Amino acid sequence: MRFHPFSSVIRTLYTLSSLSTFSRTRAFQVSPRITTLRSMPSIPILSALFGSSSTNTEKMSFPVEKSNEEWRAVLSPQQFRVLRQQGTEAPGSGTYDKHYPDKGVYTCAGCDAPLYTADTKFKSGCGWPAYFDSIPGAVKRNEDSSMGMTRTEIVCANCGGHLGHVFKGEGFPTPTDERHCVNSVSLKFAPEDKVGSKA
Ligand SMILES: [Zn+2]
Repeated sequence: MRFHPFSSVIRTLYTLSSLSTFSRTRAFQVSPRITTLRSMPSIPILSALFGSSSTNTEKMSFPVEKSNEEWRAVLSPQQFRVLRQQGTEAPGSGTYDKHYPDKGVYTCAGCDAPLYTADTKFKSGCGWPAYFDSIPGAVKRNEDSSMGMTRTEIVCANCGGHLGHVFKGEGFPTPTDERHCVNSVSLKFAPEDKVGSKA
């Protein structure tokens, strides 16, 4: 059991937290709450152990909520790693990196919600699909302080699936001067314009 060496730490924290019952499973689920108790000396260990405190996505709620098991059942391993575990595909490797149709919609690979239209996609040369804007309300933003820097993560507003990051002020000649840098694996392309439909 991978977490065994830390169980005594968790048990101590639970005692300090005045919770009378303990199980490893439960400790895992409530770990984000534990990490907010800043006075506890063992918190950096817990934070590293559970490893997901770099994003606030899991504290948000979304219209489509599934357990990891349910997501694994409908996503490929690569889709699960990117959409549900904030993974990143290798630059230049994605299906939609050099994909420039005249019309159509890029939808969420997790829940099919329309996210980006073809006419907002531009050539950034960065190795991932780049859009200067999303369909209004289709993506949500989070501060992401992983990898030793602060970036703005973008997720599907319908299911919370990780899409990539948004960068501003890079000087691209687009209407917004923003670059939504999205993993191809987080997307599906629909040639017909589905905006406004339930998709
Ligand atoms: Zn989605």
